[in-house]
This record gives sequence, C-alpha cells and structure tokens, in this order.
Amino acid sequence: MQKLAIIGGGISGLSLAFYLQNDFDVSVFEKDKWGGKAYTQKIESYLFEEGVNGFLSNSPKTMELCEEIGIKPIKANENSKKRFIYDNKIVEIPVKPFDFLKSDIMSFWGKLRILKEFFIKPVCDKEESVEEFATRRLGKEFTEKMMVPMLAGIYASTPSKTSMNAAFPKLKKIECEYGSLFKGMIKLKRGGQPSGELHSFEYGMSEFINKLKEKTNAKFIKKEIRDIGELKDFDKIIIATPAFEAAKILQKYNKLSNLLSKIDYNPVAIVGFDYDDIKPIGFGILTIKEKTLGVLMDKYIFPNRNGIRVMLGGARYPEIKDLNEEEIIKLAKKDVEKITGAKNPKITWLKLHKKAIPNYSLGHQKLIGQIFEEAKKEGIILTGNAYKGVSFNDCIKNSYELAQKIKEGNV
Ligand SMILES: Cc1cc2nc3c(=O)[nH]c(=O)nc-3n(C[C@H](O)[C@H](O)[C@H](O)COP(=O)(O)OP(=O)(O)OC[C@H]3O[C@@H](n4cnc5c(N)ncnc54)[C@H](O)[C@@H]3O)c2cc1C
Repeated sequence: MQKLAIIGGGISGLSLAFYLQNDFDVSVFEKDKWGGKAYTQKIESYLFEEGVNGFLSNSPKTMELCEEIGIKPIKANENSKKRFIYDNKIVEIPVKPFDFLKSDIMSFWGKLRILKEFFIKPVCDKEESVEEFATRRLGKEFTEKMMVPMLAGIYASTPSKTSMNAAFPKLKKIECEYGSLFKGMIKLKRGGQPSGELHSFEYGMSEFINKLKEKTNAKFIKKEIRDIGELKDFDKIIIATPAFEAAKILQKYNKLSNLLSKIDYNPVAIVGFDYDDIKPIGFGILTIKEKTLGVLMDKYIFPNRNGIRVMLGGARYPEIKDLNEEEIIKLAKKDVEKITGAKNPKITWLKLHKKAIPNYSLGHQKLIGQIFEEAKKEGIILTGNAYKGVSFNDCIKNSYELAQKIKEGNV
C-alpha cells in the first residue's frame, strides 16, 4: 500500500484521512490540537468552543460523515432563529421579507432602495468587493447596516476587504443566472433565512473530532513538520495547514511559498463569560462599529454550554492581536455591558487566534489559480480553508472531492 502523509490535523486533514483510509497507509501530523479550529475547551461546567460554533445541515457530506462515523449532531433550538444587530440599540433581524419592510432596522429610504434591486442590471464580467456588489444592488445603507455585521460574523472581515466572487459565489451565480437576487430567490423559493439548520454536538465540536479519529485507520502523530523534506519516506504528501504554515513548509519552492504568503489572515479573540440573565435570548448579536464583532449566546441554543462567547478583532480591529489577556478581557467586558447591560460575569475564559480566518480578498480566486498551478508543477497537494471555502462544511466537502481525485490518480 502506498504511504500517504497529511500535514495538519484540523477538520480538513482529518476528514481527508477518513476518506483515504482504505486506499492508503495514512499518517496525519499535527503540531498542536487535533481538530485545529474545531476544538472545545471544558472549564468547570462550561464548554467553550475555541473556533467553530456549529454548521448548517444543508451540506450533505457533513451529515453523511456524521452517519458514517456514528455520531448524531444536535440541532440548535428555536432560540437560534432569533438573531440581533447592535446599532446603538439591539434590533432583531427580521427574516421574512415583509417583516423586514416593517422593521426599524433601516430607514424608509434605505428600504425603498432595496426594492430597486429587481431592476438593477447584473455585472458578471468583473470581480467586485462585497461592498461594491451590495451597494450596487441593495444600496449603501444595506451595506452599512446588514453586510458589515454579516461579514464580521462569517469571515471576521469587512465588505470592502472581501471579494464577492470568492466569498459568496452562490449569490453571484444567482445574480448572473436570474438577473437579480430577488428574482432568483423567488424562483428558487428561498427567503432571507439560511437554507439549513444550525447543528453542533452535545459535548461540542471536539466530540465529533474524537469520534472521527476513533473511526479512522491512520497513524496520528503529534509533530510539527517544518520542511516537506522531512517526509521523504512517503509516496504522497498533502498539506492541510493554514496557507502561511504551508508557505513555511514549502520554503524551498520559492515562487509557491511567496504566493501562499499572500493569503492574509484576520485575528480573532474569543472571550467566554457567563452572566445570570443576560438578554436577549437568541443566537447572538452582531455589531456594526464596535471592536467586539459579536456576542454569541451559546447557553441559549445548545445544551451543556452554560456560557456566552464574545468575538473581538477581525479586519475591523486587527490590533487585537497585540493586546495582552487583561486588555482583551477588559475590552470584552466593557462592550458586553454597553451592548446588553450585563455586568460582573461569573466566569472568564480567553482564546486568542492571532491568525484565525483567511481573508478572501479581491483577487483571491486568481491567486488560488496561481497557487494550484504552481503546486501542481511541483507535485504538491494543498487543501484547507484558505482556498475554496472557509466553513466547516466546505472543508469536509473539499476533502471528500480531493480524496476521490487522489484515489483516481487525478492529482
Ligand atoms: C473563531 C472561529 C470561529 C469559527 N466558527 C465557525 C463556525 O461556526 N462554522 C463554520 O463552518 N466555520 C467556522 N470557522 C471556520 C473554521 O476555521 C473552518 O471551518 C475549519 O475548522 C478549518 O479547518 P482546517 O482543517 O482547514 O484548518 P485548521 O482548523 O486551522 O487546521 C489546520 C491544522 O494544521 C496544524 N498545523 C499547522 N502547521 C503545522 C505544521 N507545520 N505541522 C503539523 N501541523 C500543523 C494546525 O495546528 C491545525 O490543527 C471558524 C473559525 C474561527 C477561527
């Protein structure tokens, strides 16, 4: 059997190992925590996620993988459907189009501008930032009030720093196929709600990671790979680390390493607190201007969580990575008090990811094209959330597809 090495034991590397276990003698190398950004910390009676909070049930590969390894995901309860934005006061995000028009989340003129979307011509021949796309189609106010918090919540980024084509390819496709987002949504019978339901696991994401490892016939080796030359004994090597780590491992391939270093990462600090009766009850609150990007009310939507988590930094406030623990916690406490009025948390926990999430900047797709072309020339296989989708679901789907290509000898 051919020997195959996977560098990186996050969900991308681990799911790839699972899909290839019957066809290769697989070894997975991980320098830190199995699960990478999918890791659950247990502190007293609290479960705090260091990264991934959950995933939507609209990606069949993730649900199939759960079934294959024998783990049952849990659906977030009804509270998770209530989502809020803080714009000097907390406002609930209306999900139905009619409720949106009735709500005071935007001005009358801002809402009127949104309706013009039906008549705006599509732009399909050039790449746009999310800011350009949303402002062109839905107006400036929509971008400021809705897209700024949304980008912070999904990518820890901002609309001006994110490529629409790379970050939301499905929406771009709807615009080009149907001529307008609203026309497309009506044809596809989709409203404003996400197309799947939020899921996690009873004891957090690490429960899934542990089960996945248990059901994978591979060697799991705790070791940092500093140079690809260390793995000469292997027939195939797949790098499933963040791009900046891949750049270091591949330093001897100058051009490829330089291209990989061009993928920027946004920092995120996560502070866990618990307050007795913090409001509102719901999924959480996203912000528009604050250094805190959002407050996630974990305790109201999944069992065993007990606490809330505050996300800070991102592209809006990258300086977060230079603050010390005390400063970050102080900032988080102050923002929670300003946003919700809650004071004196019962517990405090912190995780700082100095390079948390890849930023899909303008030019991302072109850069990825160059990276994959160069990697192919050198016989190197890359995967992970830096390239073709940041979500947990994307990572599993991409690993599945890559595994099929590897089995067929197509990479
Ligand atoms: C704060 C935060 C919240 C998130 N929330 C969600 C969410 O709710 N839903 C969602 O869908 N997605 C979420 N994500 C996105 C999430 O990052 C991805 O879905 C996914 O977990 C990334 O997996 P990965 O395996 O590609 O990368 P990683 O999880 O980063 O794994 C890469 C692994 O490679 C290891 N490694 C690096 N260098 C080396 C080396 N030289 N040798 C050996 N090992 C190495 C690392 O230690 C790491 O374990 C979140 C991300 C963050 C940061």
